[in-house]
Amino acid sequence: MQSPIEISLPQVIVLGTGGTIAGVATLHPAQAGYRAGVLDIADLVAAAPGIEQLAALRAEQIASIDSKDMDAAIWMQLASRIREGLQQDGVAGCVVTHGSDTLEETAYFLHCVLPAGKPVVLTAAMRPATALSADGPRNLYDAVQVAASPQAHGLGVVCVLHGRIHSACDVSKSQPTAVDAFSSGERGPLGFVGPQGVQITRQLPLLALGQSPRAPWLPPRASWPRVELVHSHAGADGAVVRALMLAPQSDDPSQKLAGLVVLGTGSGTVHERLQAALDEAEAGGVRVAYASRVGAVSGGDFDGLNAVKIRIRLMLELAAAAA
Ligand code: ASP
Repeated sequence: MQSPIEISLPQVIVLGTGGTIAGVATLHPAQAGYRAGVLDIADLVAAAPGIEQLAALRAEQIASIDSKDMDAAIWMQLASRIREGLQQDGVAGCVVTHGSDTLEETAYFLHCVLPAGKPVVLTAAMRPATALSADGPRNLYDAVQVAASPQAHGLGVVCVLHGRIHSACDVSKSQPTAVDAFSSGERGPLGFVGPQGVQITRQLPLLALGQSPRAPWLPPRASWPRVELVHSHAGADGAVVRALMLAPQSDDPSQKLAGLVVLGTGSGTVHERLQAALDEAEAGGVRVAYASRVGAVSGGDFDGLNAVKIRIRLMLELAAAAA
């Protein structure tokens, strides 16, 4: 008689940070009593039937927050833990469960500071874990499939939601309540995941993977140069910019205004009075970058990025220049 063949499962690290995927609501369908980030990552894993057949999971709790409250300290903790975990030989990839509100920011930060090797996959949910037809278990299951898949190697950080695999560079939350709340705009997702497995249908340009000319770089700091967002709109007169410039400066260099990202109208145009204030800020040593309030910008240094991701790039660049 032949002895059974032992198949060893890939190891996947699953890091919990909170969000609606770990949230509860006491009533349904109205979300009275809704709280994000209540359940432990081990509870989320236990609620995804069959997930243990995909990979040997190592679940760890990093934070338990509503992602609207995400900050640089948790980003640094995540980056360090992921980097350390992925250096281990047996580990195939890493999944991060996250709130949907700032998912694209955490994903893009990690994309910039981690090497583009083993898969790093963020996922979320639009319905709390206690809702009828909660979408979290399916998204987590799909995220683990992607993290364990050799096909997802070298893509940089990706986000898996509603059966789609999005690049951290392209994805944004584009709908406040729908289950299908994420989009990669005109670029579209990198691929799909479901009962058919993982299908990658599009590759990222090499530049976006941090392979050249910007090497992945993990800055040794928990605080960041201060970069604020300002909007151009009818009547925008630059008062916000001038107030930011006049704000009392503390001794902590991270509190000093170092950069501004302007959400311009349409293709990035800016009200002339706001522009005058921005020019003054630039003359005063503040780095100014231009985004669009309509979505991602086309061309230039920040091609394909939306305003919140341009803010992260600017923070990283300013931190690198100051180091
Ligand atoms: N406010 C929640 C969060 O971002 C929303 C969600 O997860 O869908 O944590």
